[in-house]
Amino acid sequence: MSALSLPAAAPRRGVRVSFEFFPPKTDQMEEKLWTCVERLAPLDPSFVSVTYGAGGTTRERTHATVQRILNETGLKPAAHLTCIDASREEVDSVVRDYWAAGVRHIVALRGDPSEGVGAAYRPHPEGYANAADLVRGIRAIGDFEISVSAYPEKHPESPNFAMDLDMLKAKIDGGATRAITQFFFVNDYYFRYLDMVRANGIEVPVVPGILPVLNFRQVTNFASRCGAHIPPWLAERFDGLDDDPGTRRLIAAAVAAEQVTELMERGIREFHFYTMNHANLVFAICHLLGVRPVQEKAGFAAAV
Ligand code: FAD
Repeated sequence: MSALSLPAAAPRRGVRVSFEFFPPKTDQMEEKLWTCVERLAPLDPSFVSVTYGAGGTTRERTHATVQRILNETGLKPAAHLTCIDASREEVDSVVRDYWAAGVRHIVALRGDPSEGVGAAYRPHPEGYANAADLVRGIRAIGDFEISVSAYPEKHPESPNFAMDLDMLKAKIDGGATRAITQFFFVNDYYFRYLDMVRANGIEVPVVPGILPVLNFRQVTNFASRCGAHIPPWLAERFDGLDDDPGTRRLIAAAVAAEQVTELMERGIREFHFYTMNHANLVFAICHLLGVRPVQEKAGFAAAV
């Protein structure tokens, strides 16, 4: 096939992607993160987000990573921020620092109690009461884009979906403009949730959070803490592969490919990837979605 007979633009099909990274602890991890950022940046993500460790434990590292993204790349960083274990003044000063640094997008979260998931949540006596309260506080400081969490299988602390959706609605009414979901493996749960969200009059994008299963044991562990269901077929696929990372990677690619392909067939065009600071699998899934490096598109256009 000649270059001229190829489609003029890469087949992005209106797909938008964003990537989540975590702030590195060591020089080696920093190098790995930057390799990942450099690999994924040409895919022209809508934004890249940087997580905030439980109770603000990565406050400086999150800030430094966001700042480096701003200084050294053309990417739009979104800083995660939690309000647990911090006074309003402390949280507000982080928000003001972000505004001054040029950050315009915050992923606003309550966070998990420092005693661990499952422990009763108690707001800081001088802090924001919950994520909705935090959203209102951020909104009062600057005209940020604000993303918040959403839970297709409901948050483990929610007694029912109605309360979960009330909290989501309060966050949106407070000024959030996008929800990003907890990871899930059963697409039907996502669509069932989306129906409930829309039935509750919530119109913002609810972007599916996709977690490629690089390490099945670790994912099972995350899932048990955040209430995500691991379907038996998924466990079956990774069964017996604990000592076979090569095959695990192939299976992980197949699983993620199936998930995003089905989401796309059912109309989804925006995806948020939990990269775990690993680029290759996410890059491959994006390729499958039709998302191509921008330079390749530019080079291609020049060739035509
Ligand atoms: P909220 O939206 O305030 O609450 C979540 C749910 O809990 C609500 O839907 C509500 O139904 C229920 N709930 C809350 N309070 C009560 C109550 N008093 N009674 C009954 N039900 C209640 N954690 C980090 O530490 N750092 C991060 O960077 C981070 N990033 C995340 C990004 C995404 C996209 C997601 C989905 C989660 C992330 N988390 C992060 C995890 C998050 O902090 C935890 O899930 C936390 O337990 C809840 O925070 P939230 O903002 O979702 O809380």
